[in-house]
Amino acid sequence: MAEKDNINEMDIDIDSEKKEVPEVVKEEKKENEEYEKFCFMCHRPESVAGKMIDLPNDICVCSDCMQKSFDMMNNNKFDLSQLMNMPGVQFLNLSDMENMIPKRQQVKKKKPEEKKAEPVFNICDIPAPHKIKAQLDDYVIGQEYAKKAISVAVYNHYKRVATNTMDEIEIEKSNMLMIGPTGSGKTYLVKTLARLLDVPLAITDATSLTEAGYIGDDIESVVSKLLAAADNDVEKAERGIIFIDEIDKIAKKKNTNQRDVSGESVQQGMLKLLEGSDVEVPVGANSKNAMVPLTTVNTKNILFICGGAFPDLEQIIKERLNKQASMGFIADLKDKYNNDKDILSKVTVEDIRNFGMIPEFIGRLPIIFTLQGLDEDMLVKILKEPKNAILKQYQKLLELDEVKLNFDEEALHAIARKAMKKDTGARALRSIIEEFMLDIMYEIPKDDNIGQVTITKEYIEGTGGPLIAMRGQELITG
Ligand code: ADP
Repeated sequence: MAEKDNINEMDIDIDSEKKEVPEVVKEEKKENEEYEKFCFMCHRPESVAGKMIDLPNDICVCSDCMQKSFDMMNNNKFDLSQLMNMPGVQFLNLSDMENMIPKRQQVKKKKPEEKKAEPVFNICDIPAPHKIKAQLDDYVIGQEYAKKAISVAVYNHYKRVATNTMDEIEIEKSNMLMIGPTGSGKTYLVKTLARLLDVPLAITDATSLTEAGYIGDDIESVVSKLLAAADNDVEKAERGIIFIDEIDKIAKKKNTNQRDVSGESVQQGMLKLLEGSDVEVPVGANSKNAMVPLTTVNTKNILFICGGAFPDLEQIIKERLNKQASMGFIADLKDKYNNDKDILSKVTVEDIRNFGMIPEFIGRLPIIFTLQGLDEDMLVKILKEPKNAILKQYQKLLELDEVKLNFDEEALHAIARKAMKKDTGARALRSIIEEFMLDIMYEIPKDDNIGQVTITKEYIEGTGGPLIAMRGQELITG
């Protein structure tokens, strides 16, 4: 019977489509598709409460509320005739309610959530390290050694997680320590990796961590952040990555008799976490209190990556190398390493210990690698080569206005030189470019005739303007 009704409905639809539908009706129909009715009594939309019953004056009631009303009347709990006798009560006239009723008794439907893109890698069947590195190459410029080291470490880690051989052979966890100047891409590398692997990532700053009981975030709060990043899915969180930035700031302070709340004791407190332990964390909040439920997360399969700039480490390495060089049979020049640009890559565990990290802590970060400071050529590459390069983003934006945006090679070098002066690595690039692009993005859409804009070195250095070409014309100086 129901099927038959449907068929009839379809027939009617087909018939109505054959006829010419006026524009206004079409518009209304389209709008109706975006909106849905909601119940006048319980306020639930049709998608939740089920089919609505239409009453006069554009009022709709869901079948539950309608049923409840009937039940109340049948059970004599609600005697309308009695109501009439009560002082001050008049019989309800639906037409009086017009002012109370919203003009349109409908709410906008929620759009269905877009399907998430398939992850590039599947961590249960992790691809070989060279494939991971090839994907990283699309986003991260230079830092060849770091990309190689991180690819191998991640491959080994997830291989172990997938095959669950962690306990049997007791292989060390592949926790990492990344050393490199600010803005050299440490955070970016980890973020890119987590996105490719589609694992949750929590980023935290070591400076904000304190031992439990002191003001600040206690150490276990990083696990709670990871759980939030995994949408409170414990299983997912247990395969995630935790990135602890500025780890050099919790180095042991030298020559101090005071209790070291933020340094050595935080390192001590992190040992168990790095190794693998059960941590009780609040669900959906970042502090434990009576109101929030707790859950247990095991950190055994969580990959910890620590990063820091380690500012005086170069000096420590130099001193060690110079001392070694001046000893032995073939004594080298005493200051041979003073001008070595790549000195950081010669770091050893001993140097990091001398810097102030405790041996137990370094022991739990078996993979140590360095990132280079970025030079002018690398900064130019970062501007234009990555898949989501800043230049490509601006070009795409102007393309929507059908304007072609070009950058002279010289202009890119001028931007890179400006960034180098700020000494914050690639981080300065975006703010510099944004400053110059503001005027362009403001002025260009004003004139529909502009077809092409070229950013020149002169424009960046403040001695000239960009080159502007009208549609179908030669370039002119702006
Ligand atoms: P840090 O080493 O201080 O953690 P970040 O990773 O935060 O530096 O780098 C800041 C920004 O600079 C990143 O968001 C990224 O856009 C850019 N960047 C830095 N290094 C690179 C690189 N090697 N390749 C591509 N982009 C980079």
